[in-house]
Amino acid sequence: SLYNKLLELQGNIRVFCRCRKSLASSCLEKTDDQEVVVIQKGNRKKFQFDKVYSPSSTQEDVFTGTLPVITSCVDGYNVCILAYGQTGSGKTYTMMGSKENPGVNIRSIRELLHICAGKEKVSYTLKISMLEIYNDTLNDLLTKSPSASLDIRVQGKAVSVPGLTQVQVQTETDILSVMEMGEKNRKIASTKMNIQSSRSHLMVALEVEGSDEVSGLTSRGTLTLCDLAGSERISKTEAEGQRLVEAAAINKSLTALGQVFGALKCNALHIPFRNSKLTHLLQPCLSGDAKCCVFVNVSPDVKDVVETLSTLQFGTTIR
Ligand code: ADP
Ligand code: MG
Repeated sequence: SLYNKLLELQGNIRVFCRCRKSLASSCLEKTDDQEVVVIQKGNRKKFQFDKVYSPSSTQEDVFTGTLPVITSCVDGYNVCILAYGQTGSGKTYTMMGSKENPGVNIRSIRELLHICAGKEKVSYTLKISMLEIYNDTLNDLLTKSPSASLDIRVQGKAVSVPGLTQVQVQTETDILSVMEMGEKNRKIASTKMNIQSSRSHLMVALEVEGSDEVSGLTSRGTLTLCDLAGSERISKTEAEGQRLVEAAAINKSLTALGQVFGALKCNALHIPFRNSKLTHLLQPCLSGDAKCCVFVNVSPDVKDVVETLSTLQFGTTIR
């Protein structure tokens, strides 16, 4: 029916483009709130998004775009916020930010706690987990003694990782200290194994269980915050040994992500979630009535124009 058609068109995926500040000359031009133009050798290519954030946009501006999914999460939906782009384009700045200028992670969690606190008749239980996907293996970041290997288990529509540490949290301070511990463990593990953080996907998941004291009804939503590995192509000369294996794993998982979005967009009967651990883990927050925000982060520097074009291309094809 027309109604269903409209619902479909509305979609559950929002794609935002964020342009980093330029260090040199810029190849980008923001023409309006939803359009960015890339200038390459005199040619102008236009790309449209749900919103384009210019280099002067603040962390607060950028966070505002994600507000609707935070509300949905408290209402019991699975939602996710992802940052995609080449290394150095501002993904970690967008998601984690700095102490003085916190990013989407902290702002969304703050907002989530605020919404929960405002619902007087509902009590909430929050649990947080944090993992890294490196070369298609999952590393628990909230334990000092990681178990040998973590696998994904499917039960009906639920996707879980048995053995993954989950920490119950109540306050913003709790959550920040858990995330800090995760960051620390990530640093220790990556130094030991000679991994750069830009070569792995980081996933922070918050499980929000609500219990209505009046009706006895319960709800269960999750907020997944994902800082993806750098999407840049590595040159053939650079890619040897460990770097080559990493590059192949990143390419495979990001390609799988693009294919999943592509299949969702055309309502395909089969969505290839299981082609990579990244997409498999994201399945609950990409399918059904789940909601998702994707930030495509781009560098305006002229030397980055090829990667910027490829990132914007990715962003417009998944929309
Ligand atoms: P990525 O995670 O994509 O590799 P980063 O977030 O680490 O990129 O950003 C690279 C550098 O640029 C960092 O020093 C970061 O603080 C800075 N940066 C990125 N985006 C912005 C921004 N919008 N405003 C100010 N500094 C930024
Ligand atoms: Mg980063």
